[in-house]
Amino acid sequence: MRSVHPRRWWQIIAAAGLVVTVTYAAVPESVAATAGFAALGVATVAGCFLGPRRWGAEPAGAWLTMGVSALLFLVGVLIRPTVTEQPMPWPLLADAASFSGYLLLGTFLTILLRQRGSLDRHAVLDGLIVFLAAGLASTLLLALPAAAIDGRDHLLSFIQGLYPLLDVTLVLLLANLTFTAKHWPPSLIAFIVMMTAMFTGDLAYAIVGVQGKIYASPLLNVPFLVAYTALGVAALHPSVADVSRPDKLPAQAWSWSRLSLLLPALAMPFLLLLTTGAETAAHRLLIALTGALIVALLLARAVAAVRAQVAAQLRSEHQATHDPLTGLPNRQSMSAEIERLVTVVDPEGNNRIWVYMLDFDGFKWVNDSWGHDTGDQLVIDVGRRLRSAVPSGIPVARVGGDEFLLAYVGEKGDALRLVDDIRGCFARPFPVRDHDVVISASIGISHADADPATAAVTAEALMRDADTAMYRAKGEGPGRSTIFDTSMHAQVRERIELEVALRQALAEEQLHVAYQPIVRLETGVPVGAEALVRWMHPERGAIPPMTFIPIAEDAGLITAIGTWVRKEALRQLGVWRSEGTVGDDFYLSINVSPRQLNDPELPLIVSGEMVRYGVPAHCVALEMTESVMVDGSSVTARVLFELRELGVKLLVDDFGTGFSALGYLRRFPVTGVKIDRSFVTGLGVNVEDDEIVRAVVAMSHALGLSVIAEGVETPLQREALHAVGVLNGQGWLWGAAVDAPDFSQRWREMIQRTPQITPGGAPNPTN
Ligand code: C2E
Ligand code: MG
Ligand code: MG
Repeated sequence: MRSVHPRRWWQIIAAAGLVVTVTYAAVPESVAATAGFAALGVATVAGCFLGPRRWGAEPAGAWLTMGVSALLFLVGVLIRPTVTEQPMPWPLLADAASFSGYLLLGTFLTILLRQRGSLDRHAVLDGLIVFLAAGLASTLLLALPAAAIDGRDHLLSFIQGLYPLLDVTLVLLLANLTFTAKHWPPSLIAFIVMMTAMFTGDLAYAIVGVQGKIYASPLLNVPFLVAYTALGVAALHPSVADVSRPDKLPAQAWSWSRLSLLLPALAMPFLLLLTTGAETAAHRLLIALTGALIVALLLARAVAAVRAQVAAQLRSEHQATHDPLTGLPNRQSMSAEIERLVTVVDPEGNNRIWVYMLDFDGFKWVNDSWGHDTGDQLVIDVGRRLRSAVPSGIPVARVGGDEFLLAYVGEKGDALRLVDDIRGCFARPFPVRDHDVVISASIGISHADADPATAAVTAEALMRDADTAMYRAKGEGPGRSTIFDTSMHAQVRERIELEVALRQALAEEQLHVAYQPIVRLETGVPVGAEALVRWMHPERGAIPPMTFIPIAEDAGLITAIGTWVRKEALRQLGVWRSEGTVGDDFYLSINVSPRQLNDPELPLIVSGEMVRYGVPAHCVALEMTESVMVDGSSVTARVLFELRELGVKLLVDDFGTGFSALGYLRRFPVTGVKIDRSFVTGLGVNVEDDEIVRAVVAMSHALGLSVIAEGVETPLQREALHAVGVLNGQGWLWGAAVDAPDFSQRWREMIQRTPQITPGGAPNPTN
């Protein structure tokens, strides 16, 4: 068999089985017949070991059990003719082998059923009903008559009577397997054929047994040959792996195939009573008891069906109104609950309804850095803490990814105390899968008076306003809470309008780039410029970046805008370089937002753009805020390293205003910092600012970072910066950001004023 492809193994055993069976039937008493039987049996046993392993059937142990079972049956069948002639206890040897075979076959079927997850209550009850009916029939028709045969060893008679019952037990298991299978893979069909052949064989033996014989003719073995062949096919067919795969019918409903087995089973006691049952009182008792049991099982089945139905209904109702992750009510049921609260007017005047909308700060980073499983667990834990932190009368719902909603009826003082309780939930870190996750939530609060007349509208408005207030709170920083007031509506509208306008601006090229020089403090000669985006709205005029950049970030437009600015700036620099407007070392500093740096393709794109516009990497700086490094993902870190590898400068913008966790300056390939304007403003006036700037410069020099001062407006500030060792600055002292033609115009004028630099050349290196 080795040279044959494993896919064909089952065909070979099928063909061989056919030949052996025909030979056996033709010349049953021959040595060839017995040898063929033995060979087929051994091949099938080998098949049980090889096939399932080859096709990856699970669990591996199950088919080994089946193989051993087949081996034991084979031994039983082959030795039976010989041992039957011997005195007791020799004949029992064949039965010992067969019985063990049955036991293992039963074990195999049970493992299979478990693996398929088929053992549900309906299937078990149905199987039991069939089992009882078949058991009753075989007891009355086969077992009792066989046992009652005179002159035979009692033990032997008893054992002969047991075989039909064993078969019936297997029928139960097989019925379960077929009752619950949605598809019948070829391997399962072959298996069913095998079981059927086995029953036929056993039945033949049982009928012979009733006649007082144990072994009659070798022809009785023909069904077993068929069984072995079928088992070989079942084990070697590639679909053997599917037999144990879960494949259940969606509902354990009544079906015609099921009824076709159950109805005869129900009729069985009556039929037996009519045909044989009247023989003795014991027989009638047996029939009556079995009949009663079958009826009881039927009742149990009906009750189970009704119960399952009710449970399913309750489950689906719960699912429709609850969040699957936290088990808390969902948005739909919360909105119904708020509507109900608005309807209830309290005679004592406690009529104010408060709605709290909670949203985690930085949840995205939790998901990005630790994975969604951790994010989910965090949501579950927050839900639990919230639920136990507030009285049970206050509804708590999960209404979005990281959004929770609470509602409270009462006066303002208590309503505000509730905010503290909610905040308290976030005071301690959340231990989630080996991490201590520290997170805060922004809370928006809205309130209204109970008013049954407008309940639906009020409830809707309460939720919407709480949401608006929550966004406002977020804008003020993490962990804040804000109470809604009507002016927020106007702001929301304004924000939405700006978002729409911004999309249009991007499409209609209303954006342009302005350039602000970055100069050498000592000489005032520009060494580079920062590219700053400008938006000229056709009706509203210039809209400052401080207004629209945050909107672009929220609306997911920042990548498109950032990409456009970067391309335009690099293109402009390429033009300036080729015209000789700027020197070889003149660099452009371009702002990038966190979201852009989370794109793994960014380094590749930037390097492509530099090639396209003929700009070397040392003439490009990218500015990012501290937050990028403090809570950036692993993708961001890789992007930064790859950008740095290209040779691009990386600057920390607005340095000193953010987290001031300086560790990141060493962990990331940063090349310089831009001291925020707020520190520069106080220079020469505020001693503290002097000290801070001095410290920043000392630290930066120690780390080998360049320093640029932002927002330099006065000569006093310039002197102070120069005195502490800052080399470069940027600010209105040298000029605000202007568009490209103005910038090159000014550059030319400055060259004329400053003889140290040659047109198109670099500043004199002595500066
Ligand atoms: P930034 O990167 O810190 O840019 C410096 C800001 O300070 C600019 O404001 C600039 O016009 C202003 N400024 C320069 N010198 C002085 C001065 O002497 N005094 C004062 N009071 N202000 C000065 P602008 O252009 O309004 O930009 C604001 C912020 O918008 C920028 O801050 C930057 O964070 C963001 N931004 C601008 N363009 C882009 C862009 O293309 N992409 C991204 N992601 N952000 C941008
Ligand atoms: Mg900047
Ligand atoms: Mg800045």
